[in-house]
Amino acid sequence: MHPDLERVIRLQRLEDAAEQARRTISDEPIRQQELAAALEAARNTLEDERGHLAANQAAHREIEKELSMQQARLSKFRGQLMDVKTNREYQAMQREIEVAQHEVQKQEDRLLEQMLEFDEVTKQLKLAERAFLHDQAANETERAALAAQLADAQAAVVKLAAERSALAAEISPPVLGIFDRVLRYRKISAVVPVRGGRCAACQILIRPQTVNELRRNEVIFQCESCQRILYYENPPATAEPSAPPQE
Ligand SMILES: [Zn+2]
Repeated sequence: MHPDLERVIRLQRLEDAAEQARRTISDEPIRQQELAAALEAARNTLEDERGHLAANQAAHREIEKELSMQQARLSKFRGQLMDVKTNREYQAMQREIEVAQHEVQKQEDRLLEQMLEFDEVTKQLKLAERAFLHDQAANETERAALAAQLADAQAAVVKLAAERSALAAEISPPVLGIFDRVLRYRKISAVVPVRGGRCAACQILIRPQTVNELRRNEVIFQCESCQRILYYENPPATAEPSAPPQE
């Protein structure tokens, strides 16, 4: 293989790795935001459950108040029953008592309902608290992993830049010039393989005669369409032929 071709292939790999590291660095704020949003959502779910409990407790206080008011009314009517003079007054008072009894019953039913709801709400709150603690711990782990990835990527950028300059110094200036120009213009991939007789980047069909020349990888050849440096990639080794049948 042409030594410069071998070097620009390696140079491209360094570029690819550096590009990936740069992308990790630039994506980091978004991923931080996503993690913060996920934690916020988990916290909101927990707050909702706390809100349900608070509403249930408020309902409890309101029902108790209403119940004791209705109970007071009932005992007031019962007391007044002793003082009625006529049968008519007695019957009227009896009706008042029935209404008050009905109201007391209604509040007692509400209280029972509220207590059943309290059990359910408390259960849901416990589940939400457990889920939140789990999410919070997972979130912290992911945050730490993200910070580690960022540090790795930053170190990789520095290391790859040093490797790139060292390698670039070994490449003949005209070939390096082609590489740098194409990379600047195409942003990524200045060196690509020929696959299925086509430039792997722009997919243009390469003349069979050129493909044959490229097969030895002894020339620096640029794609006529996209200007990228082409090389011939050896097809993956075929599977070992199966062992001949034993006699
Ligand atoms: Zn091309």
